[in-house]
Amino acid sequence: MAAPDDGADGDEPLLAVEDLTTVFHTDKETIRAVDGVSFEVSEGETVGVVGESGSGKSVTARSILGLIESPGTIESGSIRFRGEELTGGNWERHRGDLSIVFQDPINSMNPVYTVGNQIREALRIHQGLRGQAAREEAVRLLEAVGIPDARRRVGEYPHQFSGGMRQRAVIAMALACDPDLLVCDEPTTALDVTIQAQILELLDDLQREEDLAILFITHDMGVIEETADRVNVMYAGEVVESAPVETLFDGPAHPYTRGLLASIPGRTATGDRLPTIEGEVPTPTESASDCRYAPRCPDAFDACERVHPEHVRVGPDQTAACLLHEEVRPRPDGRGDRGRRRRRRGRRG
Ligand code: SF4
Repeated sequence: MAAPDDGADGDEPLLAVEDLTTVFHTDKETIRAVDGVSFEVSEGETVGVVGESGSGKSVTARSILGLIESPGTIESGSIRFRGEELTGGNWERHRGDLSIVFQDPINSMNPVYTVGNQIREALRIHQGLRGQAAREEAVRLLEAVGIPDARRRVGEYPHQFSGGMRQRAVIAMALACDPDLLVCDEPTTALDVTIQAQILELLDDLQREEDLAILFITHDMGVIEETADRVNVMYAGEVVESAPVETLFDGPAHPYTRGLLASIPGRTATGDRLPTIEGEVPTPTESASDCRYAPRCPDAFDACERVHPEHVRVGPDQTAACLLHEEVRPRPDGRGDRGRRRRRRGRRG
């Protein structure tokens, strides 16, 4: 589902994703992993995409990078980078402009080549650097991501690096493309908390120094609060809420966002049991004709099972796809649920 057009006539953002739908065809069914997702990333901005496993975050990231492989395909929608459409095979022209850091650094590196070799390969492809110039730049990049004794370590293999150092090296490889947009797909999930904090600080420093835009994918609301300027909450292939980070944390408008926030340790009163969202994210196999969150939603009412919520503006810069915020569309028989909705709202006080 698309977020509403805000009507602004300003410049084209760095990245504009519009009504993106990515599906996977299997023998049994078609899985709509990303179903009508829209958001934008501006120059120098960090935009977060957050949700549970299976919400479609990583498929969104891979779609943007042109990394969807068979049986997956981008079925419809638009991905524009600096105003140029990428879908339809234009990724090669921007291959170095968009770079990705994956969750698991060990699988992002080739174990039989030195770290320096792998950074130099990216420098050769994307910046045309070779020989001593490439070696010096590889050392500079390792220093930039905080690898001590970089001149020596550039000749070491990935297994000689610790987990945190490997992720730093992977970030150096991503920077070797000299990207404008860095897509970070759960870059700290495989790391312990101390190293995670260091990597987040590193990304923050790099963003300011290199004037990077970052698309940050994570399931961790705590990480989003630390990193993002703006947040898109995904559920079952759709963005269900979008807002600046402070707005989202101060006044979440979608029940799913409220559930995610309630499950952050430390946000509930001392002694309270940490709330969880019961159940699992469904796998969407058809276009939605209802609210996909309804089976888990504490606020669900009759219409939620037969009306698919559209994004509505709930604040100056906040949208949510929830029927609590829109006039419920009438049923085909002409009857609606508004009275019931009001009654439920009244009960919640
Ligand atoms: S539309 Fe209904 S089920 Fe969906 S989030 Fe809103 S209240 Fe809950």
